[in-house]
Amino acid sequence: MLPRKRHSLQSQVVRYARTRALPGIFLCCSLGLSITSALDEKDGPSGSSSLSHMTHTFLLEEEKVWVNIYEGRRPGLTFVNLHDNENTSAEAAKVYVRRHGGRLVELVHGRGREVVIRRHGILDRFDPNRIFTENGLRQTLEYFHNLSNENIAITTDFAQKLAGMVNSEEGKAIISVHNNTPGKLTIKDFQPGEWYGDDAREVFINPAEDPDDFFFTNSPSVFRALRTLRYNAALMAVDPPDRGTLGNYVHNTGGIYILVETEHGHLDRQIRMLEDLGSLLSGNSPAID
Ligand SMILES: [Zn+2]
Repeated sequence: MLPRKRHSLQSQVVRYARTRALPGIFLCCSLGLSITSALDEKDGPSGSSSLSHMTHTFLLEEEKVWVNIYEGRRPGLTFVNLHDNENTSAEAAKVYVRRHGGRLVELVHGRGREVVIRRHGILDRFDPNRIFTENGLRQTLEYFHNLSNENIAITTDFAQKLAGMVNSEEGKAIISVHNNTPGKLTIKDFQPGEWYGDDAREVFINPAEDPDDFFFTNSPSVFRALRTLRYNAALMAVDPPDRGTLGNYVHNTGGIYILVETEHGHLDRQIRMLEDLGSLLSGNSPAID
């Protein structure tokens, strides 16, 4: 799906160390890459629900981009937070992973939504949720007027490494967590004729719910269960448009993709959505068929 050529991206994941250490202890560093690992003790002295976390540092020319991987104490669901300014969703996923295990892959760079490639103070941008196919990657670079062979190579390499960390596989659930501003992206945008109308084959809208809070999945059984629970939800088209999203990537690998979107600040709401989704995916909900 993504071209696999070598190029100038300086950061290389050369070693994946999973070590428990005191917070902030720096473990290793190698040409353009550093990995730190720590145990997050927010949940009290027992550590029974603690998170460990590891940070991978990438260099996009002069720009540092971090990928934090948080892990709970048990295996479980994989959450992904690609937009750095959508912090409510990252917090909600951390709460879930602390409680139930699993992992969160979080992109951090301090630039807001888009990731930057920086050269001599010039900032080229791309949307990190449009880079998982060659077509999407070219389109997002073009959208920001940054399309060049060099940027394609850098972004492709970054996307491949990020995809490797997400590690989508057939039958495995990958949960993409996002936040939006009121009315900007809503469940209504997945209705026929709307902006993402071609991406969905079925849409359920609960008029009593905030349209900013919704699910989007490629799994018919997850969609039906969410509908039974009266959540706003859209079911992905069998052959959705190639936008280069994480959804395209997971769908193409045969994985189960679920996007969970809420308005910024709806932390309790997003936690509840993740809890209900977790119950569905673990078969512990009467709504799943
Ligand atoms: Zn987002």
